[in-house]
Amino acid sequence: MTTSLPKTRRIRHAIRNIAVIIGVVVVAGLAALPRIEQYFLIQTAEREEATLSLAIQSIRGALDRSEALPALLAERPILTEILRDPDNQGLLPYANEQLRQTALTLDVADIWVMDPTGMTIASSNYRLDTSFVGRRYDYRPYFIDALTNGRGRFHALGTSSGLRGYFFAAPILDGTEIAGVVAVKIHLESFEDTWAESENTIIVTDQNDVVFLSDRSDWHFRTLGPLSEDALARIAETRQYPLDRLIPMQVETEALADMRSILTVSDQEDFVTNVGLVAAAGWRVMVLTPTRPALIQARQSLALIILAVLFAGLVGVLFLQRRARLLERLEQQQAHRAQLERRVAERTSDLNAANTQLVQEIEERKATELRLRKTQTELVQAGKLAALGQMSAALSHEFNQPLAAVKAYAENAATFLDRDRAEDARKNVTLISQMADRMASISKHLRNFARRPQEKISAVSLLEVLDAAIELMGPKLNAAKAELRYNRPNTDILVSGGQVRLQQVLVNLLSNALDAMEARGKPEIEISVVTEGARRKVEVRDFGPGLSDDVLENLFDPFFTTKSPGKGLGLGLSISYNIVKDFGGTLAARNHPDGGAIFVVDLQAADQSEGLAAQ
Ligand code: ADP
Repeated sequence: MTTSLPKTRRIRHAIRNIAVIIGVVVVAGLAALPRIEQYFLIQTAEREEATLSLAIQSIRGALDRSEALPALLAERPILTEILRDPDNQGLLPYANEQLRQTALTLDVADIWVMDPTGMTIASSNYRLDTSFVGRRYDYRPYFIDALTNGRGRFHALGTSSGLRGYFFAAPILDGTEIAGVVAVKIHLESFEDTWAESENTIIVTDQNDVVFLSDRSDWHFRTLGPLSEDALARIAETRQYPLDRLIPMQVETEALADMRSILTVSDQEDFVTNVGLVAAAGWRVMVLTPTRPALIQARQSLALIILAVLFAGLVGVLFLQRRARLLERLEQQQAHRAQLERRVAERTSDLNAANTQLVQEIEERKATELRLRKTQTELVQAGKLAALGQMSAALSHEFNQPLAAVKAYAENAATFLDRDRAEDARKNVTLISQMADRMASISKHLRNFARRPQEKISAVSLLEVLDAAIELMGPKLNAAKAELRYNRPNTDILVSGGQVRLQQVLVNLLSNALDAMEARGKPEIEISVVTEGARRKVEVRDFGPGLSDDVLENLFDPFFTTKSPGKGLGLGLSISYNIVKDFGGTLAARNHPDGGAIFVVDLQAADQSEGLAAQ
């Protein structure tokens, strides 16, 4: 069986390649993880761009809406009036109340009026404990700016309210003189409440990187970096923030692609940032989105890709393995078939050789048989001649005796005629005629015996043939003083055969029987005719020594004889056997239980219509 299977080897290569590809994909995937993470982080940041602009716009909106309010309020005459006469107890409550109403209407936190020294004269929150009335705010930049620049703005933690706010301020003019300053404070905490609802953290930092607004209250007033001395001094001076809360946060920034960066807070929290500015306020707005979901997503995606590749590879490997197995089986089958075909071809050639040999042998046999037949025919002839030779003595006796008798009868007849005894002479002549008939009959049989058989096989009368054979054997039987017992059937029996040859067979059997009983004083022969279905048998029994085992075994072989040379050729039974076989019958021999041999000529019954064979 061949083990070098190129196709399957190719498939094995492919499987190895797939394994290598899978390995490469896994390694490459792991190597590419940072880039994938970056991609997802940027995606996240881009998604949050809208959040940033929304936050910026809402802050801007709130600031813009209130920016012009102080200038408008400063136009109110009551404010100039109360500044002219701050202690006017009739006017003050009115002024206070008006400010309160206006604050409610405009939806701002507080509105208050200060004299040029920064002392609050009237305020919308006059009713509260945290009322600004009587408080001095000359340290606040919005106040100073309003006095000096005509408008002021500022953001800070309210020193009275403790709430973070954005301040706008404008001067109140009395004629050409600055009589005081009106300020408006708005609260921005509501944004934080909105921001808190999202997963992002939003922070608003000022120029000093102090977190002013954030939805994480613990980050309020924390700084993203250390504050300079100047900045600290300025904050202290303006009392913008409580100094004790200005604690720097531990923040690290790592640049990401697309102008974005990752912010790590306290080594714990990582955010991807979107940064925008609210220029008017000098603020930076940052949307901080936790990186965790993006990183998880990146890893999941990578895992999914690797899994998909693994799965595809596995499917490929399974498919290829299956194919390889199939191919292997197919190739094995082919090899089997080829081997089988080879064997069949070998056997066929062996068979052909054997066949040719057989054909040769058959032809040789046929040739041998032909030669044998020729020889046999010649031998039959020779055998007949030998028999004739044997019989010649008996024949001459047989002929001489009637001839002598004929002579005597003829002489007597002449004498009877001389004496006028015509009646006696006629008797003698009749006897002479009978003897002539007998001699003619013998000569006729001898002629038949000597002739080569050219007759065809046809229906012949068995009894007639038997009669002829007995007649032919007559002289011999008489010479041996043999007794022939033959119960001749009344109705004729037709058999398939040739008259002359069948007669020859029977003569031969009778002759052998006589020979076998040569030593007996009184030879006896029994002939019986038996009908058995479609078979017609003639049995010739003698009372001789019978057949020894050795004789039985070789009886029908040509030239087998126990007789002395010159007496027997050993051909009679061999020829007879073949003759009977030619007729479609059999010749067999056995011993009679009471001694002696029985020869059976078994012939096929013939139809009357086949006609009797002509002599
Ligand atoms: P042949 O008579 O010339 O010997 P056969 O073929 O007729 O040749 O007979 C062969 C032999 O078979 C004889 O030599 C004899 O030994 C044996 N044989 C034939 N007929 C008889 C018989 N009736 N009884 C005993 N032996 C027989």
